[in-house]
Amino acid sequence: MSVDVATGAEQHWMAQAIDLATTNVDSGGGPFGALIVRDGEIIATGTNKVTVDLDPTAHAEVTAIRNACRALGTFKLDGCVLVTSCEPCPMCLASALWARVDRVLFAADRDDAAEAGFDDRAFYDAFEDPETKCPTPVVRVEMASRNAAFDAWRGKSDRVDY
Ligand SMILES: [Zn+2]
Repeated sequence: MSVDVATGAEQHWMAQAIDLATTNVDSGGGPFGALIVRDGEIIATGTNKVTVDLDPTAHAEVTAIRNACRALGTFKLDGCVLVTSCEPCPMCLASALWARVDRVLFAADRDDAAEAGFDDRAFYDAFEDPETKCPTPVVRVEMASRNAAFDAWRGKSDRVDY
C-alpha cells in the first residue's frame, strides 16, 4: 500500500465515490461507494447492498466490478481503476485481483472502518494468522478424488482461461 498525491481527476472520482457512499446510507445501504474508471471514463458505479439485497458479498467494490463487467461484456477489467470510498476488505481486494484491474484507489482506511463498527481490519488480522485469529474453522478433508475437477479442467481443450 502506498499513499500518493492524487491527480485532480482521481480526486474528482474519489469525491463521487464518497458521495455515493454517503447517499447510500439514506437508501438503507452501508456507507461505501465505488467506481470503475477506464481511460478517464466512469464505466460503472457500485454501492454497498448487503442488507438491502440480503447478500453478504454485495460490497460496493464487488457491486461496481459486477456492473462494469456487465457493461463491458467481459470478466476482465485490465485497463481499469477501482476507486472506492474505503480501503477494500480482503474479499474486495481479492475481487480486484481476480478482475485484474490496473490500480485501486481508496480514501478512508481499515481503521476508519473499524471505528464505524465494520470488520475490515479484523478480517485482515485474521488472514495474518489464520490458525489463531480466524473466527471460522477452515478444515481440509482428505479425498483421493480431490483433483478430479482440476483434471477435467486441464483436459478441456476449449476452456476459457481466467
Ligand atoms: Zn469488501
